[in-house]
Amino acid sequence: MAKLSIRDVNLKGKRVFMRVDFNVPLDEAGNVTDDTRIRASLPTIRYALEHGARLILASHLGRPKGKPNPRMSLRPAATRLSELLGEPVKFAGDCVGPEAEQAAKALADGEVLLLENVRFHPEEEKNDPAFARRLGALADVYVMDAFGSAHRAHASTEAIAHLLQPAAAGFLMEKELEYLGKAVENPAHPYVAIVGGAKVSDKIELLKSFMKQADSVLVGGAMAYTFLKAQGHQVGNSKVEDDKLDLARELLQEAAQRKVAFQLPKDHVVAEKIDPAAKAEVVTAVDIPLGRVGADIGPATAAEFAKIIKSAKTIVWNGPMGVFEIPQFAEGTLAVAKAVAESGATSIVGGGDSVAAVAKAGVAAKISHISTGGGASLEFLSGMKLPGVEALTEEQKAVGKKQ
Ligand code: AMP
Repeated sequence: MAKLSIRDVNLKGKRVFMRVDFNVPLDEAGNVTDDTRIRASLPTIRYALEHGARLILASHLGRPKGKPNPRMSLRPAATRLSELLGEPVKFAGDCVGPEAEQAAKALADGEVLLLENVRFHPEEEKNDPAFARRLGALADVYVMDAFGSAHRAHASTEAIAHLLQPAAAGFLMEKELEYLGKAVENPAHPYVAIVGGAKVSDKIELLKSFMKQADSVLVGGAMAYTFLKAQGHQVGNSKVEDDKLDLARELLQEAAQRKVAFQLPKDHVVAEKIDPAAKAEVVTAVDIPLGRVGADIGPATAAEFAKIIKSAKTIVWNGPMGVFEIPQFAEGTLAVAKAVAESGATSIVGGGDSVAAVAKAGVAAKISHISTGGGASLEFLSGMKLPGVEALTEEQKAVGKKQ
């Protein structure tokens, strides 16, 4: 269902409550060490200001567990945003209450205020209606641009969207919904899904969803060994979820029934243990010898995956092919990153580790869409409804549309 866009809302003179994801890392001195998330919402923020909004920004930062914590203050994010915008950014030391109310009321058209961390109040994560009303009292309309928080039904991502109408998607949100939505609903074929990472159990729903849409599912990372063991192969000391072997068999069966090419590694990079000092060895067989741990897909698997990737029109990738944090176990993941970048397909990469791998391979600019929300993109691609998306106004119900 298409959601209303910020483009469809008349913002002039309106107090706009915009939920952003400014959950940025801070150093000891309280400086923002990586401003990627702030930059990601700049187009929406600039658009709102240029269209005369009185902009009120809200976000969480870290896990303060419902209590004020100066080390998780958003004040440094206000400083960084001000530098990026080249304009002053006002700051309220609490997201509700008299200070926030006065600051919101005092805003002129085109001015911006950042509220303190919404998670300093326990009611935020409880999606508390009274707390949502206090947040909502600050503004006239709602804009959601925090895709990374949209899988959480919290007061500032869900309850408030029912109170402030219209509730529209910002540009970052829109781009996420456009790319991920197309992959879920109407992907161009051949559709190749690549899944890796630590555990099958984290990605069961994702695998099931890929099975419904994709033509090929390429599996790497530690989760591959659970599947290989389920098929009766030797996996040495590799990380395996023994309680998921039956589930792995069911998934393999489902792939066969649906005629999905479910590709597991046919060779491996192994070591005596997963350690930066460990020596990498190639095993040119599916079985991993005793005393060895699988740490990456092998070169033949990487070449085969690359060949399949090159034939794709749609690619979705979540999870590394090995312990890519350690250079001698990173080659499989980097090879996949390069193949995805060179494929010419619509490519979507989600999940912190795969996003880091794409950056490490130096190919981020060649990926069609790098999702900003790890958990949110995983849930969306798994076919789940995101509360922070569902709560937004539907396009056709829009009131006061400009066009
Ligand atoms: P996830 O968060 O589920 O995507 O998992 C990412 C983590 O899986 C990374 O930290 C990888 O180091 C780890 N991982 C990938 N392959 C392996 C492997 N063969 N053995 C152990 N850990 C792995």
